[in-house]
Amino acid sequence: MKAVRYHEYGSADVLRYEEVERPEPGPGEVRVRMAACGVNHFDVDLRAGISRWPLPLPHQLGVEFAGEVDAVGPGVEHLAVGDRVWPQHEVECGQCRHCRAGRPNLCDDAKMFSVQYLGGYAEYVVAPAHATHKLPDGLSYEAAAAGQVVFTTAWHMLINRGRLEPGQTVVVQAAGSGIGHAAVQIAALAGAHVIATAGAGHKLDRARELGADETINYNEESITERVLDMTDGEGADLFIEHVGGDLFMDSLKALRKDGALVTCGGHAGETPPIDIIELFRNEYRVIGSRIGTPAEMQLTMRLMGEGKLTPAIHAAIPLAEAPEAHRIIERREQTGKVVLVP
Ligand SMILES: [Zn+2]
Repeated sequence: MKAVRYHEYGSADVLRYEEVERPEPGPGEVRVRMAACGVNHFDVDLRAGISRWPLPLPHQLGVEFAGEVDAVGPGVEHLAVGDRVWPQHEVECGQCRHCRAGRPNLCDDAKMFSVQYLGGYAEYVVAPAHATHKLPDGLSYEAAAAGQVVFTTAWHMLINRGRLEPGQTVVVQAAGSGIGHAAVQIAALAGAHVIATAGAGHKLDRARELGADETINYNEESITERVLDMTDGEGADLFIEHVGGDLFMDSLKALRKDGALVTCGGHAGETPPIDIIELFRNEYRVIGSRIGTPAEMQLTMRLMGEGKLTPAIHAAIPLAEAPEAHRIIERREQTGKVVLVP
């Protein structure tokens, strides 16, 4: 079969489209004929060798993918050849203290595609059957491969960590990003009053189409002033923040007393020091958030199947042209997910 692998760290040019042995499913495993695989910035970092994960080389990337079951290993009963499926991008151990406590996304021994498992950049991929689920009818492979990570991450931030309730005001920072795009849709679905921020007019127009009630262009207006203005000086109940830097601080300044800021990690330079006294005085909750739980992955996939959540797809690119897919992401050209197709 054909797969894209890299034998050394480096630029997008190290990705090689090559002939490799087709994997066989072992006990409790299925083999999936890949139909679409999302490309994440995480892949680019792994390939460049700047992630914290030491990986044996050669390596095969691909966190989230979907396809058709092509072979079934011994002991698998709930899946059959021909089923349209999506494997969970991260698989919990089911036995550690966090798994037992119902917090599987904090699993001490989780395994992830693109890291511990060979990922979806291949014609065939083996996956654990218990963490592989049937695709909802009517949901395309491309949509499943594009939406799994962003929607489960955004759902976990808003609903699980942020405890968003109908009628609350939530500010989604950087709404033009993948997470932001997903968060606006989920917040609107949850019945919140949604304020979206972005640095360009067309991104704000798109956020309104997805359900944002109000928008702020942070290159032209002060987020703090505008949010306070929109909330009669009270501040917002919840901020969804994943960029860091100034956006993080601006969020805190426009947070209601006892409000929450949920972040899944910032990438835009250094976060300025927080005024910790102010933080305590207002009983702000600054909350970290990881990926979603398996239950949240299944729920958001079902909502995608019902047409209530729609992932943005920038382009579907043949597997053989994976280097170009990485270059698109490195140049930050994409306006949605780049997916690889066989
Ligand atoms: Zn575990």
